[in-house]
Amino acid sequence: MKTRFYYYFFCLMILNLISCSKQFDNDIESELQEHFDTFVLEASLQGVDISLDLIDIDAYIENIEDRGTLGQCKSYSNGSKKVVIDQQFWNRATDLEKEYIIFHELGHCILDRDHDDSKDSDGTCLSIMQSGDNTCSGNYTSQNRNSLLNELFDF
Ligand SMILES: [Zn+2]
Repeated sequence: MKTRFYYYFFCLMILNLISCSKQFDNDIESELQEHFDTFVLEASLQGVDISLDLIDIDAYIENIEDRGTLGQCKSYSNGSKKVVIDQQFWNRATDLEKEYIIFHELGHCILDRDHDDSKDSDGTCLSIMQSGDNTCSGNYTSQNRNSLLNELFDF
């Protein structure tokens, strides 16, 4: 009886090891990949360890029908995620704007964050996770990038 119990326990441990180390062959469009890599790097600088291989996430640049929506993080019932960035936005965006929208969507998809419209006394957004509905106003600049990245990974 005891032997069977240990055998059962051993099998459970093996199963656990296999599922924990499951690697995903993600499909991330090459133009988006560099920003994903920067996200992982910035996270590690803030002490947050992210392995994209261990996250089931795809990312594409596509036309988003809903005008005004620049990016989306879609979550599926099997746990997989998909980031979509609007093609028209992507075509005209600066590097910082591209980084901002991707970091925002990865805030949803990878960090599981919701929107946060916290603002300072001037009404300036204090988070990349702002909803974009003008509750606060904010620009993502090389001046405030560091403090916003601090907030993104340390919430
Ligand atoms: Zn959002």
